Amino acid sequence: MTETKIMYDSDEAAQRVTLSGWISRDGIFWPDKTDPKFAEHHARWGGCTHLICECGNEHRKNYTICDSCRAKKDDERYQAMPFKEWEGEPLCLYRDDTYFFSEDALQDWAEEHDIEDLSTIQLVICEPQHAWEIEGDDHYADILPEDTELSDVAPLLAAALEDVNEVIREHKEILCWMPGKFRTTIKAGE
Ligand SMILES: [Zn+2]
Repeated sequence: MTETKIMYDSDEAAQRVTLSGWISRDGIFWPDKTDPKFAEHHARWGGCTHLICECGNEHRKNYTICDSCRAKKDDERYQAMPFKEWEGEPLCLYRDDTYFFSEDALQDWAEEHDIEDLSTIQLVICEPQHAWEIEGDDHYADILPEDTELSDVAPLLAAALEDVNEVIREHKEILCWMPGKFRTTIKAGE
């Protein structure tokens, strides 16, 4: 079988073409070849920093909506949470891990942030988090022989864990507080 011979100078070796397409600000070329709209979109997306929000405001392209729309959506989500009167539980800011363990702490924070009316702060009532019980059979499942319970092979340990679980059940000590499902408001001097 003879190999095809193509000379350097021949038209077969190469042809001059003019390519059309889109080039983004960062120098990436998107040829029209497949779909000009696709090429334009990708080039513009690659080269831009901002987009226009549904509301008409500009926003950075790494967000899907502008700051004010996002604030509005956050606000709607907060208002959609069920309301409960505050009864002195720890509080936290909505979608923020700033916690307040007393009204004084909230008052100080409000002053620092030039907020005069405490009732305008989006607060969430926190819920206590307790230790969960330790199920020895699950905890040691990986090293327990098949069809064997912890009490079969380690009765002392199983009994000790039962004592631990009793402390957990009876005393319900609080390990920490986490945001719960209720929103609330408090007024100054309440
Ligand atoms: Zn917007």
